[in-house]
Amino acid sequence: MSISNRLSNIAKEIPQNVTLVAVSKTKPIKAIQEAYAAGQRIFGENRVQEMVEKHENLPKDIQWHLIGHLQKNKVKYIAPFVSLIHGVDSFATLKEIDKQAKKNNRTIPCLLQIKIAEEATKFGLSFENAEQIINAQETKALSNVEIIGLMGMATFTDNQTQLKKEFESLKSFFDKTEYKTLSMGMSGDYQLAIQEGSTMVRIGTAIFGTRN
Ligand SMILES: *Cc1c(COP(=O)(O)O)cnc(C)c1O
Repeated sequence: MSISNRLSNIAKEIPQNVTLVAVSKTKPIKAIQEAYAAGQRIFGENRVQEMVEKHENLPKDIQWHLIGHLQKNKVKYIAPFVSLIHGVDSFATLKEIDKQAKKNNRTIPCLLQIKIAEEATKFGLSFENAEQIINAQETKALSNVEIIGLMGMATFTDNQTQLKKEFESLKSFFDKTEYKTLSMGMSGDYQLAIQEGSTMVRIGTAIFGTRN
């Protein structure tokens, strides 16, 4: 099946109020062009360098989402153009994004990444630390960064009960905030994530095929 066929099948499955981020990491420009031709405008990348290169070589109406862990010293490279940063997991990163956004005369929307998975390797804030950042005066004082929601990655498992539990925990925390965007769900678990209240899914493999 072609990229555009897979994309249109997924688009049909996703409710209107759920935003599809096509995760194009490791995929060539050609693959993105095919998805673009099919109407997709939002793409997700997890490496700064790769996203910068793709941004330079593709149409400027693409909205680039940085979905992976972001190192502070790399924020400056994406600050001029990034449209949403999903993986903010410290106040220090938020502060750096604010600083670089200011230099570029813009406000950068961000999501706080919450750790909901069991695996020790996944980045993210605890609910407690997220709450501290959300409520801190220092956060409210940042003028060029806007937290618009939360992001979470569930455990890599087929266990639906566990996935459901993890998505539910993030959704119930989200419901206590006033945010509008809840980024959860990937190729293997987006249907469940949507059932559990996701407003933004990040789908790579199911659109572009497996990665090397
Ligand atoms: C790679 C990645 C995805 C997409 O994963 P697929 O399983 O290929 O859909 C989503 N979110 C993040 C943070 C990723 O790094």
